Amino acid sequence: MIIKRIQVENFRNIKHAELEFCEGVNIFYGDNAQGKTNMLEAISLCLGKGFRRARTASLVPFHGEIETAPDTSLTLFYEYETTPGKENIINYRIINGRASVDINGISLKSAADLYGELKHVVFAPEHLFLVKGAAELRRIYIDNIALMQHKAHKRAIADYTAALKQLAALNSEIIASPDTVRNTRDMIGIWSDILIRQGINLTYGRLKYFELLRNTAINLYDELTVGREELGVMYRSNVFGDIQDRLPDFNDKDGLYKAYVDMLNKYQIYGQRDFRVRVGAHRDDLAFFINGVNAREFGSQGQIKSISLILKLAEAEIIRNHNRETPVILLDEVLGELDGKRRDYVINKLNRSQVFITSCDYQDYENSEDLRAIHVKRGSFSASGGGRFNLL
Ligand code: ATP
Ligand code: MG
Repeated sequence: MIIKRIQVENFRNIKHAELEFCEGVNIFYGDNAQGKTNMLEAISLCLGKGFRRARTASLVPFHGEIETAPDTSLTLFYEYETTPGKENIINYRIINGRASVDINGISLKSAADLYGELKHVVFAPEHLFLVKGAAELRRIYIDNIALMQHKAHKRAIADYTAALKQLAALNSEIIASPDTVRNTRDMIGIWSDILIRQGINLTYGRLKYFELLRNTAINLYDELTVGREELGVMYRSNVFGDIQDRLPDFNDKDGLYKAYVDMLNKYQIYGQRDFRVRVGAHRDDLAFFINGVNAREFGSQGQIKSISLILKLAEAEIIRNHNRETPVILLDEVLGELDGKRRDYVINKLNRSQVFITSCDYQDYENSEDLRAIHVKRGSFSASGGGRFNLL
């Protein structure tokens, strides 16, 4: 897909902006705290998910003494590559603290329903911690790959998360009053069943793309290191064990159900202190190896950064190879963290995509054939750079 333009009204520190984009590299540049990332976030919200995972209330402009915030409206105009010339419009609004979205005038139940519709990849500084950071980051990473391709995954995540929450609440009720009504115990049975079934679906959704991800990442890493280092990728299922090559048989639903129940029984389904469910798909993880050695423990900083980079590029590659649309890439300040060699590799890899970048300057991209540099100052946007740069 290609994003043609955006209109922003009352979003964080941006009062009003109307921008046109080129099909190549679009750079928001300027000093710190001017609104570069805010604009990238506005674009990502229109694509179905704000990459900062911020509360809706924090998106509206600070309004101090005034009780009601002004209405927020983000309108994104885009085309699919498969239907060039046909403009589509996404409108994301926040009115009285409530977010709503419509696509070509048709309203959606929730903004999150958009996710997956418009193919894109976000690369933000937190992704440089994909290898070393908390396991949750890696789960979100693989879930996002699955979500982008496979709508049913959304349901599995939502139901699984709801079951975890309900079980924690019901368990604390039972602990608080052990002779509690039967009803509570019945409800525990119902939610445990949902937890197990959706736990299997969640694992299935992730593993469906894991193999693809592993192969793509291994090839890209080989290319980046010119064959000098070999990457290994493993899915660590908390229930089904480490998975490197042999995937569980997802047609054998009864067998999987039994394996899941056995695991829960073995480890006791609930922790003693905080009522949280102790085993399950919410504790899965990914592990990475370089020449057979665990990168998280033994990798150098450069190797760890390279794997993170490759994981994001693999995400883009998977979308590109499995859809008729090229993903749009949103890069928030990450390239500055990379050395020249890695930066060139990324820029080169992404040159077929439409890219949006925030950066303090635009020197690194001066050689890009199709470049639009947009200067950002105190929430206002203006084209600059002159010469070969497109003007707004
Ligand atoms: P950096 O180079 O440091 O990353 P940036 O240009 O990306 O800077 P942004 O993250 O876009 O900066 O933030 C710009 C400003 O927007 C910040 O000063 C922040 O305080 C302000 N801001 C954030 N949320 C709101 C809001 N809800 N209302 C008004 N201003 C906000
Ligand atoms: Mg920023």
